[in-house]
Amino acid sequence: METAEGTLRLMVVGAHAFDAEAMAGGLAARAAEEGGAVLLVHLTRGERGDPTKPPEQYAVQLEGEMQQAAGILRARAHWPGHVAGELPMEDVIAELGRLLREFEPHVVVTHWRGSWHPRHVAAHRVTLEAVQHAGRAGGAGPDQAPAVYFGENCEDLAGFVPTLYVDISTVFSRWLEALRCYELFRRSEPLESYASAIPYAGFYPAMARVRGLEAGCTYAQAFMPARTTAPAGHPMCIAPGEMRTGFRSVSGTG
Ligand SMILES: [Zn+2]
Repeated sequence: METAEGTLRLMVVGAHAFDAEAMAGGLAARAAEEGGAVLLVHLTRGERGDPTKPPEQYAVQLEGEMQQAAGILRARAHWPGHVAGELPMEDVIAELGRLLREFEPHVVVTHWRGSWHPRHVAAHRVTLEAVQHAGRAGGAGPDQAPAVYFGENCEDLAGFVPTLYVDISTVFSRWLEALRCYELFRRSEPLESYASAIPYAGFYPAMARVRGLEAGCTYAQAFMPARTTAPAGHPMCIAPGEMRTGFRSVSGTG
């Protein structure tokens, strides 16, 4: 994938299709709009997520939905071929390592580990390991290592304390359009569905507004840097391009 020199390369790793867009779709849309390249990695399709459909059938639908959502965000979607519920850790780390070397992202976003969902925790672990392995294998110093952030996901909120916010007001409607490509999001729109399903459609737009209020803009997406010395409770609003220096600037301040 070709990009203009200096533009942001963003890689987002989600456990299931939809997770990457939910955690960082607004950031992705902004990065792409500013000439950057975005790779959305869906470790599994999440085909067991709809009890009313046979997994094989829902899997095909999800493949279509992930492509449609990526198109709206001007990103590229990649599913490495793993079946829902099965994430062979070593294989996934190797696959992510290959993607890291090929795509050379400045910024990697993935799940925070404080999740009730085992696959989200696994995605967090394999992504961190893959970044560490890729750095060692390539002989990369801290200057070449991507800055790693955890995105806000309604299933991963235990201990999630974001300190960096990105204003997504200009791309908010496009982000929602991308989320609405997924039936699982559209299905969660009626208030009556909240008691029986995960309220994606209630959470994400409302949370973006709440983060906007905290950051002093209309809508924002919040991120937790993997390494930071920033105190909680003092959110800082930054541009997508500034995220690449997050790792170095914080690690350099010791
Ligand atoms: Zn998920």
